[in-house]
Formats: sequence, structure tokens, C-alpha cells
Amino acid sequence: MTSLRNGVAIVGGGIAGTALAIALARRGVKATLIERETSWTPTSSGIFIYANGLMALDCLGVLDGIRSAGWVSPDGANLYLSANGEPITTTIYPGMGGGRVPPIVGIRRVELHRVLTSAIAELDIDVRLGVTATSIVDRPGSPVEIVLSDGNSLSCDVLIGADGVRSQIRTRLFGAIEPTYTGFGVWRSTHAKPRDIDVKIMIMGVGIRLGIMPISNDQLYMFGTTREPRKPHYPREIWHTHMGAKFADIQGPARRLLNEITSPEHVVYTAVEEVHLPLPWSKGRVGLIGDAAHSSTPFMGQGGAMALEDSVVLAEMLAGGGEVNDTLVAFGERRFARCKFVQDVSRAVGEAGALEDVAATVARDARLRSQGQADVDAFYERMAEPI
Ligand SMILES: Cc1cc2nc3c(=O)[nH]c(=O)nc-3n(C[C@H](O)[C@H](O)[C@H](O)COP(=O)(O)OP(=O)(O)OC[C@H]3O[C@@H](n4cnc5c(N)ncnc54)[C@H](O)[C@@H]3O)c2cc1C
Repeated sequence: MTSLRNGVAIVGGGIAGTALAIALARRGVKATLIERETSWTPTSSGIFIYANGLMALDCLGVLDGIRSAGWVSPDGANLYLSANGEPITTTIYPGMGGGRVPPIVGIRRVELHRVLTSAIAELDIDVRLGVTATSIVDRPGSPVEIVLSDGNSLSCDVLIGADGVRSQIRTRLFGAIEPTYTGFGVWRSTHAKPRDIDVKIMIMGVGIRLGIMPISNDQLYMFGTTREPRKPHYPREIWHTHMGAKFADIQGPARRLLNEITSPEHVVYTAVEEVHLPLPWSKGRVGLIGDAAHSSTPFMGQGGAMALEDSVVLAEMLAGGGEVNDTLVAFGERRFARCKFVQDVSRAVGEAGALEDVAATVARDARLRSQGQADVDAFYERMAEPI
């Protein structure tokens, strides 16, 4: 049995890294969080967290904070509309934990981070902002030694890379494994929430899909997907004109929101990438979690939830003792199938939302009517399984 006397160092203070630091601290394991940004500044858009991610936040002891900072879907309803605003169908996402955990919470990313980093401050976790790891030495028989970019060094029993889709820790372990470009672009904007929008809405067009989701009592978030097979470079100064043009055919409740997009600071554009890392997700006492190991397309809204689940599971496994090398290998084996399942379903949902053939979109919408709820139920039955 190995004790974690020197603690766990975590490189990357995004969703996965902050959650892991909290989960470890709650189990009495010392954590040091190393984040290259000088302050907590996630992009200003929103995120929605489904019940399985909320279950993980509950394990971290921060669910109440998330509920009060975000918008809690009262019934899990997801309204599908056509591009001209006609209803297609409504599906219902389930809550979990015997009704304790709601089906979906929409929240501003800065608010999610505020809640997570408040817990970090309360737990007195050692945070190093504005630095990265420049040297990592993992020699059997002694602690893992890390030199930071500010010249400081630290010793730990485990180093975890939670440094996102372009992870430098992954590159150190396995060489340059480039993320896979998926051919999709996502356009995001935030708006004052009109009083009459109190539900998650998905608008299914031809070649495009646009979502609307409240992220607080007075704000909402819009996210649209387009096919971008050639990975074009769109200059930031004209993101708003591109978003306006790409969703020009959309009517219904999104029209007035699209009309509000008049300057580049309204819009965030992201070229969507995935990470396909074969097992093991670790080498020696250095391992990977979150997007660094298994980034997925965002079409099921599950990337953040997978990162949160990783953190809860890894903290439990590390705190359980055993040889760290074996624990990290076992962690990857425990998480791989579930993360791959999410990647596969999410990519398929993205493909269905971006069909360019009109007849195919008619068939898709008919299938949504007849099969949409069964698909949701099957997916969330899997998500409700023990992690
Ligand atoms: C368009 C889009 C929409 C999405 N919507 C949702 C959604 O609605 N719901 C959902 O659950 N998920 C969603 N996701 C996925 C979700 O954002 C990610 O899965 C999640 O952020 C992964 O968390 P992470 O901590 O692994 O990585 P990140 O959030 O990327 O965090 C990585 C952190 O590491 C830091 N870092 C990077 N390199 C270094 C380094 N060398 N040294 C130190 N620090 C470093 C970064 O600054 C950052 O703070 C979406 C993704 C996209 C692209």
C-alpha cells in the first residue's frame, strides 16, 4: 500500500483539474493545482451539465452552489423545432439520485469556475497560477520531481495532466498526438434571457443545428453547429457576420436573438476537435484526465460531465491506496469504454444535426418524433450506471 504523503500535483485548472483537487482534498489527500493562466478566466459562454455531471458535482459537495448560480431545468424538457419555428417533438431528460439531482443545469462558465474555485479556496488547496511544469522526473524509489516555469520545484507522489485538448503532459508521455479535427464548427453567443424562454430548445435545420438554453434567470446561451470540412480560419473581427449569415434561415424564437448579434464580442467560434488516446492513459506515476485523455464533440453536452466523473473516480481510486502506477492504469481501464461511448454518440448526433440533404432531414425529424425519447432514455440509462 502506497501512502500519498507528498500529495498529487495537477497540471491544468479547468473543469477536470479543479474538480480533482476538490475531490482529493475532501478525501484528505494533499493536492497542488498548477494553472498556466494568471487568473481564472474561462471563456464567457455557457455550458450545460446533465444529471450524471451534476451527480459528480454533488459528490464534490458543490451542487447547491451550482444550482443557485445557474438555471435549473424544471422538468428536463428539450423542445425540438424546425428552422421555421414549427414544433417537431419534445423529449424529456431524466434527473438522477432519486430526484435529488435535476436533469440539466445551464450555467455561465465563469460561474461554474467561481463555484469550483471557491471550494478550492475553502479547502485551502495549494494553487499556483501563471505557471506550468517545465521538467518532470519520475524515477522509481523517489517522489516525482517537478520544476515549474517560475523556477520553483515540488515533489509529489502522482502527477495528473488535466491540461485540456492540447495537453503538454500528454505530449511528454506519448509524443505529439494531435487532436482529430471533426469537420464541425460551433458558434456560441450569450444574451439577455427573454421572459418567455424557460426551456432548452434545439432547432434542426438543413446543414445546421442551433440550440438555446437559459444559463441563469436573466441570461441565455445560443450554440450553433455548422459543417466546416476545410477547417477555415475565420478572423475574430467578423465572427458575428459569419454567425449571422450561417443561421440566416432560422426563424422562430432564435430569430430575435440572432438579430442581436451585431459585434464580434457577442460570438465565440470553435473548430471542434476530439482526442483519441489508446490505453494506457498513463506512464509510470503520470496520468491524464478530462479532455487531455478523451475530448469529445460537444453535441451531447457531456465533455465537462466526463471530466467531472474522471475526477471523482480518480480521487476515490488514489485515496484507496495501492501502487500508483497500477492505479492509474486501472483508472484508464475503468473510464475508457464510457468516454468512448459518449464520443461515439456525440459525433453521431452532430452528423444528424448537420445533414445537408433535405429528404434526409425530413427522415431525421420523423425519427426524432418516433424514436427521440427512446434514444434519450437509452443514453441516460447508461449514464446512470455506477461510474
Ligand atoms: C463548443 C463547446 C461546447 C461545449 N459544451 C459543453 C456542455 O454544454 N457541457 C459539457 O459538459 N461540456 C461541454 N463542452 C466540453 C467541455 O468544455 C470540456 O470537455 C471540458 O472543458 C474539459 O475540461 P478539462 O478540464 O479537461 O479541460 P479544459 O477545460 O480545457 O481545461 C484545461 C486547463 O488547463 C490549462 N492548461 C493548459 N495547458 C496548460 C499547461 N501547459 N500548464 C498549465 N495549465 C495548462 C488551461 O488554461 C485550462 O485552464 C463543450 C466544448 C466545446 C468545444
